[in-house]
Amino acid sequence: VRVKFWGVRGSIPAPGRDMARYGGNTSCVELTLSDGSQLILDAGTGIRELPRFDVGAPHTTHVLLTHLHLDHIQGLMFFAPLFDREADVTVWGPPWFDSPLLSRLGRYISAPLAPVEIRELPALVEFVDAPAYFNVGPARVEARLVNHRGPTLAYRIVDDGAVIAYIPDHEPALGQRIDDSPGEWISGYSIARDADLLIHDAQYTDDEYGGHLGWGHSALSDTMAFARRSGARRLALFHHDPKRSDAEIDELSAQAVDLAGGDLEQVFAATELDTLDVSR
Ligand SMILES: [Zn+2]
Ligand SMILES: [Zn+2]
Repeated sequence: VRVKFWGVRGSIPAPGRDMARYGGNTSCVELTLSDGSQLILDAGTGIRELPRFDVGAPHTTHVLLTHLHLDHIQGLMFFAPLFDREADVTVWGPPWFDSPLLSRLGRYISAPLAPVEIRELPALVEFVDAPAYFNVGPARVEARLVNHRGPTLAYRIVDDGAVIAYIPDHEPALGQRIDDSPGEWISGYSIARDADLLIHDAQYTDDEYGGHLGWGHSALSDTMAFARRSGARRLALFHHDPKRSDAEIDELSAQAVDLAGGDLEQVFAATELDTLDVSR
């Protein structure tokens, strides 16, 4: 499975000279599955940069939304396939009682916030409340609610034996001791266990976290404890705070490598436009 980061920032886009190396676009990760098909994780502003479909290739794609905070859906209205009459797009997202995903997203893709109405998108689009398990091409996807503000899914994607866990907004330490609670009590554990690549919230330093308890994000040492408990092989620090400069992210990721102490094969800060291959 090939992974490409199109947006790695949390909360709000963060353009600027001091942010340019890691990138300022909000959450969007593209997976190219073992059969060449495309699966997109979140529709932050990074999704705008995805290339158009090749002429002659199937115009089919799947977008998996973790939740509907603006930094994860803002790019939807600028996602070219939605305006392509030949495209077939399935958008998956968290269920919320009897309110379908279409009507919840329609609060954003409608007047006065948008120049288009969600029911008028030219593509063939289907909005689906994600069940616990579903298939996308050759991949088996598991979706689970995790600790964040509002209904928020984490996704586990298994394709050709490779396991990718995507948990961009997550506060596993809330009401939980990550180091000594039983695994199944820890939010997100079943999604991340033994993942070949864990893409995880790393919004706050430990110092900052004290002032943001309950905001739905992780302190670095909680991210590291979560990765260690879940047995992930590689960890991508993700959802960088919008005020975090490149130099500060360098520092944070050096700290993360120290904290990992050899428990993980690789720890790195996700960088816009970087790609990596993940296999078993
Ligand atoms: Zn977010
Ligand atoms: Zn969020």
